[in-house]
Amino acid sequence: MTVSPADFPPPFDWREFVAEPTDPADERIDVGVLIVGGGPAGLSAAIRVGQLLEEHPEVAEHLGDVPVAVVEKGRAPGAHLLSGAVVNPRAFRELFPGMLTEDMPFRAPVVREGVYFLTPKRHVRVPAPPTMWNHNHYVASLSEIGRWLAEKAEELGVTLVPETSARTLLVKGTVERRLRRRARAARALEEALAEFERMGAKLWAERARTELDRVGGRQPRSPGELTPSERRIAELVAEGLSNKEIAATLFVSVHTVEVHLSHAYAKLCVHSRAQLARRLAASKYGNRDLLAAGGAPGASPEPGRRGR
Ligand SMILES: Cc1cc2nc3c(=O)[nH]c(=O)nc-3n(C[C@H](O)[C@H](O)[C@H](O)COP(=O)(O)OP(=O)(O)OC[C@H]3O[C@@H](n4cnc5c(N)ncnc54)[C@H](O)[C@@H]3O)c2cc1C
Repeated sequence: MTVSPADFPPPFDWREFVAEPTDPADERIDVGVLIVGGGPAGLSAAIRVGQLLEEHPEVAEHLGDVPVAVVEKGRAPGAHLLSGAVVNPRAFRELFPGMLTEDMPFRAPVVREGVYFLTPKRHVRVPAPPTMWNHNHYVASLSEIGRWLAEKAEELGVTLVPETSARTLLVKGTVERRLRRRARAARALEEALAEFERMGAKLWAERARTELDRVGGRQPRSPGELTPSERRIAELVAEGLSNKEIAATLFVSVHTVEVHLSHAYAKLCVHSRAQLARRLAASKYGNRDLLAAGGAPGASPEPGRRGR
C-alpha cells in the first residue's frame, strides 16, 4: 500500500490567515490585482502584470483606477531587504528582455571566488560545491535591487503602498479625486502633505500638493475639527510657547509636538504661528474677518523650524 502525505493534509481554514476587511466600504481602496510584499518576488510579479496590462489596455480598463498595487510593510520597497547578495542575472534577463546587464542594478561581476574550511587557527581552501559556483553572477545589494524594481513597477503604473501612512493617504486622496469625492480627497491629501512636509520628503510633498491643486486647492477647516491633541498644542502655540516648552508642558517629545502641529497647520491652511493664533482667536470669538484671514493656500515651512 502506498501512503502519500498529500492524502493527509492538515486541517486548513482560510479565516486563520485572511482577515475580513474592517474599514467602512467607502474608506477602502479597490484594486484590480493586489500583491502583498514588496520584495523581489512581489515586485517582479507586479512588473510582469504591468507589462501584460500594457499589452492589453482593455483588461487594465476593467481593473479600475488602481489596476495593480503592492503593499509593503516596510517604509519603502527595499527597506526590509538587508542582505548583500551575489545574484544570478537570469531572472532579470527574462523579466526585461533586451536590457543590457550594465543597466541592471548590480555593482560588479564575480571575477574570483573561493570556499574555505575554517578552523580556530587555520583556513583550508576546498573545492566549491556546484551550488556555490557564482561565475557570470553579479555582486549586488538586495535593498538596491528592491528600490530599482519598485521604480520599474511604478513606471508601469503599479501603485506602491508602503507602510508610510502618508503615501497610503496620497493614494487614497488620488483615488477619491478620481471618483470626484472632492472633500474626502482634499482631507486625505492635506494629511499626506503635512506628513511629507514633516518628514522632509520634498518630492512626495510636491506630488501631494499637485493632487491637492487638482481637487481645487486646500480647503481650510475649522479649529473645531482638530483632534484634542492638535487643539491643545495649537492653543499653547497661540499662548506663545515654543515647541520645546510645549513638549515639557505636555510630557511628550518635541517630535510629537511637531507632528500634531503640522497636522493642525495643514487642516487650518495656515503657515505661521501668528496665523494659527489668529485662527484660534477668530473661532473663539466668532470673528469671520479673522477667520478668513487665517491662511491662504500655499507652501508652509516645516513646523519643526517654527519653534522658537
Ligand atoms: C542572509 C541572506 C543572504 C542571502 N543571500 C543571497 C544571495 O547572495 N543571492 C541571492 O540570490 N539570494 C540571497 N538570499 C535570498 C534572497 O534574499 C531571497 O531569495 C529573496 O529576498 C526572496 O524574495 P521574496 O520577494 O520572495 O521575499 P523577501 O525578500 O523576503 O520579501 C518579502 C517582502 O514582503 C514584505 N512583507 C512580508 N510580509 C508582509 C505583509 N504581511 N504585508 C506587507 N508586506 C509584507 C517584507 O517586508 C519584504 O519586503 C539571501 C537571503 C538571506 C536571508
